[in-house]
Amino acid sequence: MAALPSSLSGRVVTDPDVKATYAVDESLGAAAPADYEVVRARDLADVVEVMRFAQQTGTPVVPQGARSGLAGGGVAMQGAVVLNVEALDTVHDVDPLEGVAVAGPGVINADLKQAAAQAGLFYPPDPASSAFCTIGGNVATNAGGLCCVKYGVTADYIRGLQVVLPGGEVIRTGRRTAKGVAGLDLTGLFVGSEGTLGVVTEVTAKLVPAPDPALTVLATFDDLERASAAIIALRQERHRPSLLELMDAATITAVQAVADYGFPQGCAAALIVQSDRPGHTAEDVQRYAAVLESAGAAEVAVADDAQEADALLAGRRALNPALEAKGHRFIEDVCVPIGRLTELIRAGQDIAAKREVEITMSGHGGDGNLHPCFFFDPAVEGSRERAEEAFGDLVSVALELGGTITGEHGVGSLKSRWLAQELGPAELARQRAVKALFDPAGIMNPGRVYWSS
Ligand SMILES: Cc1cc2nc3c(=O)[nH]c(=O)nc-3n(C[C@H](O)[C@H](O)[C@H](O)COP(=O)(O)OP(=O)(O)OC[C@H]3O[C@@H](n4cnc5c(N)ncnc54)[C@H](O)[C@@H]3O)c2cc1C
Repeated sequence: MAALPSSLSGRVVTDPDVKATYAVDESLGAAAPADYEVVRARDLADVVEVMRFAQQTGTPVVPQGARSGLAGGGVAMQGAVVLNVEALDTVHDVDPLEGVAVAGPGVINADLKQAAAQAGLFYPPDPASSAFCTIGGNVATNAGGLCCVKYGVTADYIRGLQVVLPGGEVIRTGRRTAKGVAGLDLTGLFVGSEGTLGVVTEVTAKLVPAPDPALTVLATFDDLERASAAIIALRQERHRPSLLELMDAATITAVQAVADYGFPQGCAAALIVQSDRPGHTAEDVQRYAAVLESAGAAEVAVADDAQEADALLAGRRALNPALEAKGHRFIEDVCVPIGRLTELIRAGQDIAAKREVEITMSGHGGDGNLHPCFFFDPAVEGSRERAEEAFGDLVSVALELGGTITGEHGVGSLKSRWLAQELGPAELARQRAVKALFDPAGIMNPGRVYWSS
């Protein structure tokens, strides 16, 4: 690849071991290519410089935050500059009157929440990776998380952006104000664009009034179908839960193997349900407990103080490391209409049996967004292939059920082969035309999302 400008020399990662850590994200199979550079931008000028160089030389750019992505969107590619913006990590402003925060793209999600909390406000989107993923990465993937069932996803909280385009032009999209209908929603276009249009260098996020500390209900079920029926019942509550998470027996066993998080053994599924409604949490969790019992829960426990509630959620937050410890896996991220959730669960179990693959079934049940994991043993011939086929089978099922190939992790490189199937030719052609408008030379994360050639 062309030599980077000398003005960036202090920003280029030269230590081969350190550099290698910037080549991969958390997606399965991510590996460093032979030839790539990593630039750790320290300010807007660095980003502009890289984008100018990239356009002039036709060098691909891979924008990057904390590398917690699960779809392969932030992985280095041959001949590319990885443009890491983690160091742009300042919360510039929290404005309680307007209800906004302005932050650099490298601000960690949990730190933005903390800054909002200090002003008595709340930034809701909370991916399970909240402690280490960046707000820029959240914007680029339209990240979801545990509280989306009540609060929605990242897109619902982004009012405006500063973006550096290929060639180095800096643009602002959106607004700071509560309302605004001036022109097309370019902010919405960049949210979820996975680094294929430009580099996000500043985020103006909406904040909402702080909720009450959540209270929790834990319900166990003798079969997964009753659990999904309970999810459907809870979704129809007037005061929707602030969290509605599903774990199957295999998931519970994996979590309990790490530490005793208080989940009972021997049940087929558990639902964790929370309310954070100011002044009404105790009333809500009693109501949810009654709904869960009517839906056929075997046991229902109400954690009626904040400490117990946190303990139960700690078990849910331990899920990812627990599943990681279990072995190699493909992580699904399909999302279906809530009314089809039971069919998705049943199909996942059938696929696992047919392909002879071990599966765990868990995720954001309240959104119809599950993360089934298909495990494999690289030492066993054909094991990985069978897991991969099972992964693909479930994607097809999600589409047949009227769902999507990705609820929150993004398309990246792992799911680009299914994108045309979901979008159809007319929408795909328009999306490509929009991409070409912002990135005529096709240097932004090429081959990711739309372009699977
Ligand atoms: C344990 C674990 C739990 C997770 N739980 C959730 C969850 O509950 N919900 C959820 O939605 N996700 C979850 N994720 C996935 C991941 O954390 C999110 O996708 C997150 O938004 C990625 O942020 P990041 O800073 O790590 O971005 P990266 O992984 O560095 O990048 C992700 C994508 O965004 C692009 N990008 C990053 N920064 C910018 C920028 N400034 N400008 C333009 N493009 C950019 C990259 O090119 C790439 O395509 C989880 C991941 C892990 C490892």
